[in-house]
Amino acid sequence: MTPLEQVLRARIARFGPITIADFMADCLTHPAHGYYTTRDPLGAKGDFTTAPEISQMFGELIGLCLAQHWLDIGRPEQVALVELGPGRGTLMADLRRATTAVPGFADAASVQFIEASPTLRAEQAGRHPDATWHDRIDNLPDLPILLIANEFLDALPIRQFQREGAGWRERMVGLDEADNLTIGLSEIAQRPELSHRLDDTTDGQIVETCAPAAAIVFEISERIARLGGAALFIDYGDAPSRGDTFQAVCAHDYVDPLSTPGEADLTAHVDFGALVRDLPEGVAATQLTPQGVFLERLGLTPRAQALARSLSGDALNDHIAAHRRLTHPDEMGQLFKVLGLYRAGMPPPPGLDT
Ligand code: SAH
Repeated sequence: MTPLEQVLRARIARFGPITIADFMADCLTHPAHGYYTTRDPLGAKGDFTTAPEISQMFGELIGLCLAQHWLDIGRPEQVALVELGPGRGTLMADLRRATTAVPGFADAASVQFIEASPTLRAEQAGRHPDATWHDRIDNLPDLPILLIANEFLDALPIRQFQREGAGWRERMVGLDEADNLTIGLSEIAQRPELSHRLDDTTDGQIVETCAPAAAIVFEISERIARLGGAALFIDYGDAPSRGDTFQAVCAHDYVDPLSTPGEADLTAHVDFGALVRDLPEGVAATQLTPQGVFLERLGLTPRAQALARSLSGDALNDHIAAHRRLTHPDEMGQLFKVLGLYRAGMPPPPGLDT
C-alpha cells in the first residue's frame, strides 16, 4: 500500500467517501505524497512523455505563433509570457530560442510560470533563472498576456456523475468490505448545472465536470478582455467529452486509477465545450483545431526538413518518427486539440480557425 493510500483509507473510514476530484487532487498534489509534488514524471525514463519532450519543433512553433500574435496586436512594449504547468521548462526553452528571430520580442516578454510542484519548479529554474513563479492566475502582473498550457488542464481534478432518470448519482471513492478503495455511487440528486447534459446522455451514462479548469479559463479570458493578448490550450479531449475518461498511467502503461495513489499520473479528457460555454464579454474563442492541422499550418514540415539536413542514421529516423507522432491522426495529431482565446476584434492566433 502506498503512504497516500493509508492516509486516504483512514480519512474515508472516519469521514466517509470522497469525490473523485478530492481523490485526484490528493494523488497529484498532496504536499508530502502527491505524484507531481514528489517527482519529475516526464520523459522516456518517467511515466509519460509530452509533445515538447518529443521534439523541439513543438515549442518552436508555439513560440512563432505567439510572437506573430504579438506583432498582430501592435507589439505591446511589455507582455507576460505565461506557461501553466511548464513541466521541465522544455517548451519555454524552445519557444525562447525560436523567437530570438523576432526583433523586440524577447525584450518585451517576461516569463511567468504557474506551477504546483516544487520539484518541477527547481527544474524550470535551472533553464529559466529569470522567470517568475506564481501559485495563482490572479497574481500575474497586469500586462497583456501570451499564454500556453500544454497538457495542463487534463491534470485538474474532475467529478463524475452517473445519469439516473432526470437525476444524477456522483461517483465517489469509498471502501469495500475488505477496506480496499472502491468506486461507489452517492444518493440520487437533481443537478441544475448538468441540465444541458440531459439532452445528450441516456440512463447509466457518465458525465464529467472540471470546475477548476472552467475557473482558470474564465480568469484568463477576463484578463485577455481587460489587458489584451491570447492563450493557447492544448490537450486531449473534445467538446463535449463523453463518458468515463478518468485514467492512470505508470511507467508508460495504463493502470487502475485507484491502485497506487500518489504513484501514477491521473488525468481526464478535457471537455473543451464546457470551457467556452460562458466566456466573459470582450474575449473570443477559436474553433477547436486538431494538433496535427495546427502544427502543419504553422510550418512544421518545412521546419522538419530544415532540421533533417543536419541529421543522419538513428537521429534522422527519430526525427522523422517525432514529426509523425506529433501530427499523425493515429498518434497525437487528432486526439489532441488546440483552443485559442484572444481579444474580441483582434486577429486570432495563427493556425486556428474562427
Ligand atoms: N506542459 C508540460 C508538462 C505537462 S505535465 C509538458 O507539456 O511537458 C502537467 C504539469 O502541470 C506539471 O508541470 C505539473 O506539475 C503541473 N500541474 C499539475 N497540476 C497543477 C496545479 N493544480 N497547479 C499548477 N500546476 C499543476
